[in-house]
Amino acid sequence: MLSLYTLSGRIKVPMVLGDFQRVRLEPGSPKEAELVFRNGTWFFNLVLETQAPEVHTGEPVLGVDVGENNLAATSTGKLFGGGDLRDRRDRFLALRTRLQSNGSASSRQLLRKISGREARRVKLENHRVSKAIVLEAQRIGASTIALEDLTNIRENIKGGRRIRTRLHRWAFRQLQTFVAYKAQSLGLDVIFVDPAYSSQSCSLCGEIGLRQKHLFSCSCGFRAHADCNAARNLARIAERILSARVSVNAPDVAA
Ligand SMILES: [Zn+2]
Repeated sequence: MLSLYTLSGRIKVPMVLGDFQRVRLEPGSPKEAELVFRNGTWFFNLVLETQAPEVHTGEPVLGVDVGENNLAATSTGKLFGGGDLRDRRDRFLALRTRLQSNGSASSRQLLRKISGREARRVKLENHRVSKAIVLEAQRIGASTIALEDLTNIRENIKGGRRIRTRLHRWAFRQLQTFVAYKAQSLGLDVIFVDPAYSSQSCSLCGEIGLRQKHLFSCSCGFRAHADCNAARNLARIAERILSARVSVNAPDVAA
């Protein structure tokens, strides 16, 4: 809500914010403002002060895995969007299937309505989770967030029906997009890595381990939540890529 002094007293105007504005308003503090009249419309320009993003090198990477059972898991062991999120999604999918097979005008109308509601709910959840992920990266002092390259996501979701996979695909991509722009607005890098074997390999020793439901265990003795193990692998892959880049960019001066 904007509160403005005018010649005829104080007026209050609601602010209409898009995602772009919301993300930038969150971390900054307003410094200056100006009211501009352009082509018949009033615009309110706001100058924000934010902390200049620092460039970090050689600091840890936060790995983030997106999964079937949890919306996201981090390499630091945090899980987001589990249980009831999945239940609601399953109920939505069941209802959608029923309405689609019915095919009447009223069921098509209801389908549009609940689909819109589901999309808004997922979007809200993705905003919440992406913000928590970026905060987690800041908490550990990470300079980079490693995300899965989702090109092959179909193979990563076990027993996925086509319809289900499609729903996931856009929801996961949206989550990644939100993480990416929230991260970038705070000066964090985002790297997309090939998740090959990230769910089967042990993030401690690199050997192929055993995945039983949510538990990953390895013969080396390492045990972790399977999604967190996958996230740790993504972080390791990203760290290898980053250290290779550093050695390319900083050649041995003596040589
Ligand atoms: Zn191991």
